[in-house]
Amino acid sequence: MSSTLPDPRPNADSIAYWESAKQGRLVLRACAECSHKHFPPRRLCPVCWSESLHWTDATGLGTVHTFTIMRRAPVPEFAAQVPYVVALIDLAEGPRMMANIVGEDAHAVRIGERVSVCFEQRGDWAVPQFRRISD
Ligand SMILES: [Zn+2]
Repeated sequence: MSSTLPDPRPNADSIAYWESAKQGRLVLRACAECSHKHFPPRRLCPVCWSESLHWTDATGLGTVHTFTIMRRAPVPEFAAQVPYVVALIDLAEGPRMMANIVGEDAHAVRIGERVSVCFEQRGDWAVPQFRRISD
């Protein structure tokens, strides 16, 4: 993917997530009350509604819950990227996140396959994406 794509638009809840991604770290919000880890970042724990949240580093490992191959661009900025893979990734820590599967072998991805995070430069930001792990 290229830097012509839209940049991330951090908000107060996600700025630390995006600043960490710039440093090559995938982070999650974790609850001090019930230990639940969630994504995307929120101000309150989605399980117990506690405001006692902190950031924790994720391993960057996950498995593919499901995926699709985009063959028609949803917006003009993505026209040069098709076909590309959009996947739901079950992180090792529990949360599920949407990302692209990238790399030369991305289109060979399968449900249940293990993947590892990588970071795609996007202007001044870096977007967490995933690559297949070859066993
Ligand atoms: Zn909680």
